[in-house]
Amino acid sequence: MKSLGSIRKDFAPWNDSNAKPYIQFEQVTKKFGDFTAVNNLSLTIFEREFFALLGASGCGKSTLLRMLAGFEEPTSGRILLDGQNLAGIPPYRRPVNMMFQSYALFPHMTVEKNIAFGLKQEGMPAPEIEKRVAEMLKLVKLEAFAKRKPHQLSGGQRQRVALARSVAKRPKVLLLDEPLGALDKKLREETQFELMDLQQQLGLTFVVVTHDQEEAMTMADRIAIMDKGEVMQVATPAEVYEAPASRFVASFVGNVNIFEGKVIERTAQGAQLAGANGVQILVENAGDAVAGAEVAFAIRPEKIRVSSKRPADAANAMEGLVYDIAYLGDMTVYHVKLDNGQIVRASAMNATRTTDDPLTWDDRAWISFRPDAGVVLTR
Ligand code: ATP
Repeated sequence: MKSLGSIRKDFAPWNDSNAKPYIQFEQVTKKFGDFTAVNNLSLTIFEREFFALLGASGCGKSTLLRMLAGFEEPTSGRILLDGQNLAGIPPYRRPVNMMFQSYALFPHMTVEKNIAFGLKQEGMPAPEIEKRVAEMLKLVKLEAFAKRKPHQLSGGQRQRVALARSVAKRPKVLLLDEPLGALDKKLREETQFELMDLQQQLGLTFVVVTHDQEEAMTMADRIAIMDKGEVMQVATPAEVYEAPASRFVASFVGNVNIFEGKVIERTAQGAQLAGANGVQILVENAGDAVAGAEVAFAIRPEKIRVSSKRPADAANAMEGLVYDIAYLGDMTVYHVKLDNGQIVRASAMNATRTTDDPLTWDDRAWISFRPDAGVVLTR
């Protein structure tokens, strides 16, 4: 059997100029009174994509999902599904199903009745319903729980019933609003992989709303980072992390150190930057930043090395004081206060049980990094 990764690794229709978008938001705005929840937003999602909408509470991600499901109509703009304008089409006539945060299971019905409910309403013949329910129970590995009621299940099992119920009608698109919100951390992580498996098996398009960046990074083919009703960047998890488009995206996803500065010189290899109080940074990934531009340099903590002496070969090195140390087991996080006052976060994997270069609070220390370790941000 092929692994999940091997199927997904070649999946990138967004890089194929001939690929037809499946879901299209075209300049969509949604206003509630004077308040603009979604602002002139354009976005395309491809068939079989696992797409995540990521953003802080209130950024408009649920509103976007609700418009796709048909529970809200856009104030202006269009939403197309497989080329068809969805305007005026009621939710039940859209090939879209939504799984809600609260799951909304019927408490008095057994697991199998919960799953069968929508099929019955649709008028599916009983033998077919029975077959489909059995198929769904198998899919979410709940065959042994068919006769139980929701209160006799764990949170994770309830979540799987809700999922089975949402996919039972075989929608083309499944919308999931914080699908794992009610689960504890460990179960969430397990369930993330189950969801990815399920999506692959069924060949559906998933659009998931989450405010949990790790969840989005784990599951999604692409992520749209949203802020105040607008999309800040749409990219794969690796691109969002390694090549954020702006200070906002860099800070929103993962930990980052930001050095504000100016481009002193563009070189053939990249650029030389000057930061506050004489900090000099040599970078390779300077994008389209021109000489003289005010920019930021963003670098992730794991790409910074901390040492007691200045490494001889370091293109970039700055001296400071070990201000804080957090030992997390698998890694250690250092906060180094540079001589210019800025606190830099650096993390080191604890690949061995002891270290040759132990550093402790108030030690003088050097942080160093390679020219290709970070990116220049112009926004
Ligand atoms: P959360 O993660 O908290 O669910 P969200 O990003 O999904 O947040 P939305 O539910 O899309 O946010 O809401 C976006 C904004 O629109 C919020 O400020 C919200 O208060 C507002 N809003 C949503 N629905 C309505 C409504 N029916 N009437 C008025 N304002 C609304």
